[in-house]
Amino acid sequence: MAGVAAGVNVSAEDQRRIREAGLQWLRSGIYGFDQEQFFKGEKQPENFYRIRDKIVQLRKDGFQIMGLTPNPKGMVAAAGKPGSPEYFENYRRLCAFLGQEFKGLIDYWQVANELDIWIFRDTLTIEQSAEFLKAGLRGLRDSGKDLKIGINITLFPSKPGEVDGNTDKHEGVFIAKSIYQDPSLELDYAGFDSYPGTWREGGVDSWHEYLDAFHELTKKPIIIQEFGYSSAGDLMTEEENKSGIYPCKIKKWRFAWKGAHTPEVQADFISESYKIFAEKPFVIGATYFSWKDAKTCWQCGSPDCPAETAWGLVDRGNNLKPVYHSLKSSLATYFKGRLETS
Ligand SMILES: [Zn+2]
Repeated sequence: MAGVAAGVNVSAEDQRRIREAGLQWLRSGIYGFDQEQFFKGEKQPENFYRIRDKIVQLRKDGFQIMGLTPNPKGMVAAAGKPGSPEYFENYRRLCAFLGQEFKGLIDYWQVANELDIWIFRDTLTIEQSAEFLKAGLRGLRDSGKDLKIGINITLFPSKPGEVDGNTDKHEGVFIAKSIYQDPSLELDYAGFDSYPGTWREGGVDSWHEYLDAFHELTKKPIIIQEFGYSSAGDLMTEEENKSGIYPCKIKKWRFAWKGAHTPEVQADFISESYKIFAEKPFVIGATYFSWKDAKTCWQCGSPDCPAETAWGLVDRGNNLKPVYHSLKSSLATYFKGRLETS
């Protein structure tokens, strides 16, 4: 399962380039979905069906979709008071509806995204976040035994103080245990997101420790739902790093692999990462984050902040970056047999 976080609104030209790279999976939220209409019991707007038609076409063109259900932050007021029984029940119903509406089109779902991180939990506590995920998983399971479902976390291994948002509550481990050790849930995979060398210390070699331990914890096949390396951004000085300042605030990275964030290091990082993924039979997929460099950082809104602007395989001008070529050749080298039989 070789994927890219590209959404489903990809141009014909981008579809061609994605396919030529050996990528077959697109990871996407359901952008046309109107929660207000859903909770009123009314029909979805045109845009919802337009997105669904788009997915019909993508499937015909040979792509597969990894669908994402909404995050707490994206829930409308009509869902009820966050954390209340009504709210969780509404989320279960919402996920059941999505599973049903996309039957035969989206076979794999990820419930919400990285709820171990405060940015995505919104006002929910970590305990409520686990309930939220369970409600979503149950909703999807209600809509079909054949759907493949899971969740993803990123604060693993737990290193309070090192990674932004990782505290003594060990958020990632808490969520993983709540979900994977609950025998009433039927899960098909464990989603793992990690950015060693960018958002956390380490680099390519970190994958061994991270993936082996995550598999041990979850006992599930692993899909790396997000990984990547930023191709831009200077490094904080030791003093800046010690101050605990957030990367967006200073527009510099806390960590680097091989000491730099450049297009060349990004390219090496990706090919060496795939090599390790291919060595681990329990890793059944990986989604590269992301397809294209962003014009602005979604966290702080700034166009010159490296935090969320330089992860792409193509740059802002739609030109292929060195990482596109290294990704393409490493998929062809390490996954040849697997891709042909999938
Ligand atoms: Zn930023």
